[in-house]
Amino acid sequence: MKYPESKLPEIGTTIFTVMSQMAAEHGAINLAQGFPDFNGPKLLLDAVNTHVVKGQNQYAPMTGIPELREQIALKVERLYQRKVCAQTEVTVTSGATEAIYAAIASVVQPGDEVIVLDPAFDCYNPAIILNGAIPVHVQLQAPSFTLDWHALAAAVTAKTRLIIFNSPHNPSGAVMSEADLQQLEALVAGTDILLIGDDVYEHIIFDGAEHLSFVKYPRLYERSFVISSFGKTYHVTGWKIGYCVAPPQLTHEFRKVHQFLNFCTASPLQYALADVMREQPEHYLQLPAFYQQKRDLFNQLMEKSRFSGAPASGSYFQVLDYSRISDLDDMAFCEYLTKEIGVAAIPMSVFCKNPPAMKLVRFCFAKNDQTLREACEKLVQL
Ligand code: GLN
Repeated sequence: MKYPESKLPEIGTTIFTVMSQMAAEHGAINLAQGFPDFNGPKLLLDAVNTHVVKGQNQYAPMTGIPELREQIALKVERLYQRKVCAQTEVTVTSGATEAIYAAIASVVQPGDEVIVLDPAFDCYNPAIILNGAIPVHVQLQAPSFTLDWHALAAAVTAKTRLIIFNSPHNPSGAVMSEADLQQLEALVAGTDILLIGDDVYEHIIFDGAEHLSFVKYPRLYERSFVISSFGKTYHVTGWKIGYCVAPPQLTHEFRKVHQFLNFCTASPLQYALADVMREQPEHYLQLPAFYQQKRDLFNQLMEKSRFSGAPASGSYFQVLDYSRISDLDDMAFCEYLTKEIGVAAIPMSVFCKNPPAMKLVRFCFAKNDQTLREACEKLVQL
């Protein structure tokens, strides 16, 4: 028989799987794929156990359990000063990746254009293509990865349906400023362009900066899917649980896709997250300080190395330039780091359609201090 042509001919195995496998095979410290090597809050872990034993083991409501949606709505109001309706604007999803796919699938028509800002997290492009739309890539300017608003405006056409933003930004660690948000308001005013705010690192932002969620801005929120991740916030990336906040009309369409992608998300995890959000709201308020200490430790340890770069403004990733160490391209350099030096990292060029000349790699600092020390000891020898 003849198998069908690939629907994603240009897509290979995600870099996160490639590098985590390579790290495991070679016994390297994995600073590549972004996940903590420490556990979530004890209250959260104990609560899962309690809810499993109590019998919360059947399907949750398709939209998420009301208790958790209420807590999400309360948090949004507390942090972003908007009352969102837990019934009609909040949906719990099986991770942010599912939410991003559902958001894209629910609004793009074949032939629509979707603008992504490169380097772009690698789940955007395939979701756009699988839904028959056309990704349009606008390159952020290295090394600070700021957005050239003229370049973005030039990429907008009558076919632009959606623009995907991500702040704090993975992989670069850059964050959007108030001026950026004003530019965005002006860009979309009078259009039907929709937005995705990929806010998964909303609580991991440094140096006193505040996360500027689209939820805060009425003229942006009316056209936005705002997506976040409990995995990042509660150190439980393997739970694959997140949520989407969007105005009722968009949520209505979003749920039509979500209900047939996953239907619902694991019940006991939802009950446990509702408990921790209710009982320990300080957890996410303390995350900036918690991760800033790790960012600073990592950068301080790396001062003795020949890597260079400015500290990340947000996310748990630090991008560093290795041009003083090697002429290898970034993929080859990451392979060398993993196999020969014993530390895995992520190459930056894989997130760009047309990668500019750059020698940058991304390290994840969501690790115990001891892990960071051991990794940096190896890296400073280069
Ligand atoms: N968000 C994680 C990172 O950027 C990876 C998630 C995944 O592996 N799908 O490292």
